[in-house]
Amino acid sequence: MKHYNIPIFISHFGCPNSCVFCNQKKINGRETDVTMEDLRNTIEMYLETLPKNSKKEVAFFGGTFTGISMGLQKEYLETAYEYIKKGEIDGIRLSTRPDCINYEIVEQLKKYGVTTVELGVQSLDEEVLIATERYYPVRVVEEACKILKEYGIKLGIQLMVGLPKSTFDSDYETAKKVLEMKPDMVRIYPTLVIKNTKMEQMFYQKEYSPLSLEEAIERTKKIMALLESNGINIIRVGLQPSEDLREDGVVLGGPFHPAFRELVETEIYHNFFKKIIEKEKELNIIANEKSISKLVGIKKANKLRLKEYFNIKIDNSIEQENLIVNGKKYSRLDVLRGELS
Ligand code: SF4
Repeated sequence: MKHYNIPIFISHFGCPNSCVFCNQKKINGRETDVTMEDLRNTIEMYLETLPKNSKKEVAFFGGTFTGISMGLQKEYLETAYEYIKKGEIDGIRLSTRPDCINYEIVEQLKKYGVTTVELGVQSLDEEVLIATERYYPVRVVEEACKILKEYGIKLGIQLMVGLPKSTFDSDYETAKKVLEMKPDMVRIYPTLVIKNTKMEQMFYQKEYSPLSLEEAIERTKKIMALLESNGINIIRVGLQPSEDLREDGVVLGGPFHPAFRELVETEIYHNFFKKIIEKEKELNIIANEKSISKLVGIKKANKLRLKEYFNIKIDNSIEQENLIVNGKKYSRLDVLRGELS
């Protein structure tokens, strides 16, 4: 059944933190800018257009949902829960910081039908956490994951590659630690320099240099291969190219690309094919037509780079995740493991 999120962007004006990459504006006197009426209107607007026979969840994104006061969290949850009780939506998901999770909070989330919590973990390198002004130790993340799992709430982890003080190795080490936390899903974002953030000053004062697009792809593909090959669902790679981000002067630096995931996939398959060519001196691929674009690469990059070797044929009897190269069958897992060897 197709799944849809009904997105509710809850800014957290009261957020006491000042993560260097965040541009959430602090406005005194108001905790957030979404009223219960706004919430109801948005849910109802989506319900009118989404297919009846689909899975729908209200998704509170944007801030630190569980960092807002317990009373206001309860109001939002109760409002959304009315639609769960009526059978019109199937659950609630939200994103928050790991240090805004405890038993009392999760008890309330569970009571009102929260199915998934995504934690903005970003990094599990304590030096990086300090440099980005996150200021919580890794054990806080471990504890938050443990509590969510105890309550049977699905765990999502958001990671950022290329944060201040991070290295290729430290980002990969973070991914290894993430594996131990057994998340159900992960999002991977390359760090961008966004206007009106502390990082903007760090960038102009040359205290922070963002990754190049190539470096971000290198780091991300290894992390993606490690996590996906261990059964973790990678639900997003790269920021959604929303209108806000596309506005002139919003992204000041860093590896922004509207099809970042496709770039990463292109490199994963390029690497896989290159190794086969080195050994076998030929590359005769047979694959399902649904996977062709991934294999050929973005703007046909793999076809162009591997030139005369690159022969590809369509056979829709082959499962989408598999492919045959030079007469041998390979699974997606084989491709990912190739990236890690
Ligand atoms: S990233 Fe989240 S926790 Fe950090 S300043 Fe922004 S809203 Fe607050």
